Amino acid sequence: MWVHLPRTVAEAREHLGEGAVPIGGATLVWATWQRDGFPEQAMSLSRLPQANVVGPEELGGAVVLSRIDGQVPHVLRAAAAAVGTGAVRRTATVGGNIAGSALRCLLPAALVLEARATVLAPHGVYETDLAEVTAKRPVLLGLRWRTPVASAYRKVPAEASGAPPLVVATALHAETGTATGAAPRAGHRLRAAVRDGYDVVTATVTCGPDAARPMDQLRGTPLADVPGAWDLIGEQVAMLVAAASAEGKAADEPRRRD
Ligand SMILES: Cc1cc2nc3c(=O)[nH]c(=O)nc-3n(C[C@H](O)[C@H](O)[C@H](O)COP(=O)(O)OP(=O)(O)OC[C@H]3O[C@@H](n4cnc5c(N)ncnc54)[C@H](O)[C@@H]3O)c2cc1C
Repeated sequence: MWVHLPRTVAEAREHLGEGAVPIGGATLVWATWQRDGFPEQAMSLSRLPQANVVGPEELGGAVVLSRIDGQVPHVLRAAAAAVGTGAVRRTATVGGNIAGSALRCLLPAALVLEARATVLAPHGVYETDLAEVTAKRPVLLGLRWRTPVASAYRKVPAEASGAPPLVVATALHAETGTATGAAPRAGHRLRAAVRDGYDVVTATVTCGPDAARPMDQLRGTPLADVPGAWDLIGEQVAMLVAAASAEGKAADEPRRRD
């Protein structure tokens, strides 16, 4: 197997066009390749600058999970910290987790951040949503999002060999809405995601002076039916609503319960 280490997007695109398979930390693929045989060509994005950024509103696909620190919103940092063991987190990458694994503990966090993905295809780089990333598994160069007002994450402890543990992630986003015939007013958008088995269920509701209480709105969504999730959602929503009222004092300070 030949492992390419492209330093530019043009090089990466060329290798992809030649059939190179993306590889992160090989924490998942190594055993499979040993059993089924190695591909002729693989491509690691570990030398590609665009795939290695960590910032308040972006995260590269080649970043190893242990590098995800306080620069990113709390929900994403907590999600990365909850993956596997320290040894796994020091090796596994964002791309391998979101595009290449089944558990995808980072996915609920990325969904509540309303992250957009930058992906590489043989015809070039383009931006897409996370639904396409999980369905088609293109080469993930990175994620981008807008800093939320506050966010929260909880992964319920579970047996390693059992069903995927329940995950609840939430984020509160500032938005300026315009009521019909009225002046613009500030409000918030609350986005929640729950991992139920290997699926992630999401819902978005509004919080503001004219909106029904967020939990009343969420009660009418599929999130309310996920076993064990409702109380955790309630705890997080209470924290986020408190954060909204304190908005302006601190942006996206960790308000954690995990
Ligand atoms: C002991 C153990 C415990 C774990 N616990 C958890 C857990 O609690 N939660 C959780 O979510 N996961 C868990 N995992 C899975 C872990 O997160 C994955 O091993 C990891 O996500 C794969 O990352 P990797 O970079 O090693 O990918 P690799 O093994 O290198 O690749 C895996 C797949 O992803 C593809 N891929 C790699 N990079 C990219 C990219 N940039 N774009 C597109 N496709 C790409 C590869 O082609 C391959 O198909 C665990 C794994 C182990 C071994």
